[in-house]
Amino acid sequence: MKKLNNDQFEEERSRLLPTVKCPKCSYIAEMNHVLTAQSNQNVIYKCPQCHYEVRNIHTSKG
Ligand SMILES: [Zn+2]
Repeated sequence: MKKLNNDQFEEERSRLLPTVKCPKCSYIAEMNHVLTAQSNQNVIYKCPQCHYEVRNIHTSKG
């Protein structure tokens, strides 16, 4: 059985979790940390670093 050390685990994790790159400052963050889903199905992206905000991102589901 293969056991991952912490570095390998972190690498695997970042590969599994989708990330988003800020178009303004190039900060890369995990999607679930920077995207906020609204009740009207719009999605807001907000960069935690430069506070750049994009509204009404249309997700292509279905
Ligand atoms: Zn940014």
